[in-house]
Amino acid sequence: MEMMDWWVSMPKVELHAHLNGSVRNSTLLIILIPSFDFLHFHLLAFELREDLTKFELYYRELAKELGEKGIIVFSEVEHVILKNDRSLTEVFKLFDLIHILTTDHATVTRITKEVVEDFAAENVVYLELRTTPKRNDSRGMSKRSYMEAVIEGLRKVDVFDIDFASTKNGLEEKGKSGQMIDDCVGFSRTKIYVRLLLSIDRRETLAAAMETVKLALEMKDLGVVGIDLSGNPKVGEWITFLPALRFAREQGLRVTLHCGEVPNQEEIHAMLDFLPERIGHACCLEEDAWRKLKNSKIPAQVPHNLSSWSGESFVVWASGLGLHITPEIDSCNNLGLMGNAGLLLSIIFNFAADLYNTNHPLILCTDDTGVFSTSLSKEYAIAATAFGLGKKEMFQLARTAVEYSFVEEQVASKLKDLFDLLDKSLAYND
Ligand SMILES: [Zn+2]
Repeated sequence: MEMMDWWVSMPKVELHAHLNGSVRNSTLLIILIPSFDFLHFHLLAFELREDLTKFELYYRELAKELGEKGIIVFSEVEHVILKNDRSLTEVFKLFDLIHILTTDHATVTRITKEVVEDFAAENVVYLELRTTPKRNDSRGMSKRSYMEAVIEGLRKVDVFDIDFASTKNGLEEKGKSGQMIDDCVGFSRTKIYVRLLLSIDRRETLAAAMETVKLALEMKDLGVVGIDLSGNPKVGEWITFLPALRFAREQGLRVTLHCGEVPNQEEIHAMLDFLPERIGHACCLEEDAWRKLKNSKIPAQVPHNLSSWSGESFVVWASGLGLHITPEIDSCNNLGLMGNAGLLLSIIFNFAADLYNTNHPLILCTDDTGVFSTSLSKEYAIAATAFGLGKKEMFQLARTAVEYSFVEEQVASKLKDLFDLLDKSLAYND
């Protein structure tokens, strides 16, 4: 078996995936630019492959098309699209671009279905998918109707069996129920469990955040299990949303925060003091915040003392609960990180050793498979090399993620049983 095939076939758990960031590039092109010339695009990609990544090509072509249609002002985003060392601010400009493109119900339904099927296709057995319910008056979209479109997308998943409800009242289970373990033996798994997190965007008002939390509560029966705070970390203050986050917690929703994406130590400390059930990213923690995190045992995994990190080929940042390893995308470029990949890998190794020694929760996530052109299997493959860990250890890493998920105990225990069963049948030495 090819090594990459092994990582694909291994059951995995994804706890930090944004719906919009996981959209297939091809779907964006097909839906939004029906006249897009794919043949021309591929020829161009072939001709220029030495100079530009597919990612850049894609966005360049997309932006040109959208510019011609007057949807965006190309000159404003051109420099972001063409460069390959984007700053965090510039990455968020790309997110804004995608948000412009995904604001009608049919598109939301379609991308939800496809994102779930893409994860299922690489043997993700449990997916916690997060999205910001959006209001778009010009399209007749409310936060509620946005979420209904998401649920419709889950219902439309037909290539694989899906379970996306958290209670019997809202039970939505398609396909052959109860055969998950049988199906998984021999890696012919056909079922994926999906739960949802509703995100509050840092650009929103407290009133909008409260609306999101109330919506999440109303949709508990449809598999909404928690609230996330995300968005451009340079925008807004997290304290604005504290009342909504507290309310969510009081009402039994789990809370996860994007924390420490930029070195705002005051905010990082306040977030850690809130004791969220999980934090994501956490790449800019100074010594005392790092200590606080480790003492708290909040599930998170963070690169320690990032300002000393460096890398041209890889950028590593903690994502979801764990590390996010993305080739050629430098999310923390604003910290001025440059250097060589070899040094970076050795730092990663030391970092991973520290995590193992202290038993702090470590979980690998993709964050945004589309924007960063990655997959969970790829993240596991890169991490195994970077950490110097074997298949067995990586398998255990995936299994542990179940414990930090927000899924109901009954499903968590089914998933753990599945991992245990597969553990006995996997050929780790191939
Ligand atoms: Zn994220």
